Amino acid sequence: MSELTAQEKIYHGIGASPGISIGKVLLIRQHSTSYVKPPDAAIAPDQIDSELARFESALEKTRTELESLQRRVQNKLQAREASIFDAHLLIVDDQMLLREVEDTIREQLTTAECAFFRIMERYVTAISVMPDLYIKERVADIKDVASRVLANLQGTRRPVLDYLEEPRIIIAHDLTPSDTVLLDRQKVQAFAIESGSNTSHTAILARSMQIPAVVNIIGNIVDELENGTEIIVDGFIGTVIANPSEKTRTAYQLKAKEEGRFYIDLIRESRLRPETLDGFTIQLASNIESLTDIQTAKKFGTSGVGLFRTEYMYLGRDGLPSEESQVETFATLIHEMNGEPVVVRTLDIGGDKYSEHLSIRAEANPFLGLRAIRLCLHECQEVFRTQLRSLLRAGACGNLKIMLPMISCIEEVIQVKELIEELKEELFREKLPFNRDIEVGIMIETPAAALLAEHLAKIVDFFSIGTNDLIQYTIAIDRDNDRVNYLYEPTHPAILRLLKMVVDAAKRNRIWVSICGQMASNPQYVPLLLGMGVHELSMVPMSLGAVRRIIRKLKMHEAEVAVEKALNCSNARDALNISLELLKKISPEVTDLAMHGL
Ligand code: PEP
Ligand code: MG
Repeated sequence: MSELTAQEKIYHGIGASPGISIGKVLLIRQHSTSYVKPPDAAIAPDQIDSELARFESALEKTRTELESLQRRVQNKLQAREASIFDAHLLIVDDQMLLREVEDTIREQLTTAECAFFRIMERYVTAISVMPDLYIKERVADIKDVASRVLANLQGTRRPVLDYLEEPRIIIAHDLTPSDTVLLDRQKVQAFAIESGSNTSHTAILARSMQIPAVVNIIGNIVDELENGTEIIVDGFIGTVIANPSEKTRTAYQLKAKEEGRFYIDLIRESRLRPETLDGFTIQLASNIESLTDIQTAKKFGTSGVGLFRTEYMYLGRDGLPSEESQVETFATLIHEMNGEPVVVRTLDIGGDKYSEHLSIRAEANPFLGLRAIRLCLHECQEVFRTQLRSLLRAGACGNLKIMLPMISCIEEVIQVKELIEELKEELFREKLPFNRDIEVGIMIETPAAALLAEHLAKIVDFFSIGTNDLIQYTIAIDRDNDRVNYLYEPTHPAILRLLKMVVDAAKRNRIWVSICGQMASNPQYVPLLLGMGVHELSMVPMSLGAVRRIIRKLKMHEAEVAVEKALNCSNARDALNISLELLKKISPEVTDLAMHGL
């Protein structure tokens, strides 16, 4: 971080979602709610019941929020901090408090927020005069919970996430995937956060939503900026410039224009075949998180959906999706894709993704815990059955395939396949249409699955390599932990060897092999992935254009030679240089694309 002029300040981070945005700051500080007296308001006697109901629902909402916060904190391994929420939950669950508020609403004919505030004030005053310091300090807890309940009563919680009055750039310490999925796409111009990494699900979502983003910012950006400050976010190179000078602003306005032109050119090329100069075609598919991503995918010329992350159907919503609504979503997707394959990944909850509606226990190492298929087979069987039934049913409408995440052994696949057979019988008995021959494939994202590829290939219809997790689990680095980010190297020799092993096993067994991790969307790695011999690269739709352009300038033979050389490298940098050298040879413009990770 350095000062350029009196006001202009540059913050450096990691470019997580490409794009330039110039706008005004909206700060999200952890506690956006506050303990303030609500305006006095009287109610009529016939409103008592509705006020009581409103109060109970606000308490329930607060309880859910606190439990979810507690889980998040516990999952980040701060048990001491997490226990704070036990105290908070006790307050929400206090029956005496509930009765007192009810009595006040009835007797004083006042709104739920006024009644609640009056009771809380009594507690706060009583505790504040206690001589015991420890008890005195509980006032902060009471006010904290009270402010949450008040905000839920007044409907003022998290207004910034789902609705903004004006376009703004969000600056926060952290945004969870559930926060991000709620962002108002029309009004959130960009975001910049102090935590996170390039392969965190928050970053992945930002790319899908086409919101420029910078993560892992060095410095205290949240404390140093003010709401309304003018700011530039450069999601290509990962910088944030506060109070830009006239000169900086003009330069970035120009850069934003060029960016627009660049994408327009790529869209113009979207009908061109992703074929190498020596005639090899590779499928370019999209990773999507919701139906709203379909239009961008089509605009950039996708050949189907290579990964639909269904977990977002369970996050940031009011309840679990029903079987019917899931059938409808998948059928729409099939219809929109016009016969192109649609690969739907079953629920991958756990790790950094939580759903308030699934009872997931806090774990010390959530990425190594009951995540994805493990959770589905053990603690969320009913939810899993419903999802599989909806996939089988939607499969009757077209080319839909089921993909299982985080497989680490043969038994998991066998168990799911048996379950699918059982569900087919069930649907048959219920006389509901379904696809009896639905294809079932797996993600290869644990080193165990990669090493077992030869066996797994014999019992599944396709592989899709999830490099985000494969890298995390192979190199032993938490993909969300910014402190070990420097070790996250897609061209690490161990990764390249595993990739080659998986692709070779798939080909020997004549099954389809795709790569759907973030690595597939980064032009720097395209020569190596192409040379490995994969059938498909599946990526965030915005990257389809750049990857297509690179493929069309490459020769398969040269890519294969590059892979041979890279596999002999002892370190990630040398292997990456081999890929970049080939890019440089085919064209400097393409190398530029690669270096900026478009
Ligand atoms: C991966 O792990 O590479 C992948 C595509 O899955 P996700 O990023 O959703 O974990
Ligand atoms: Mg994964």
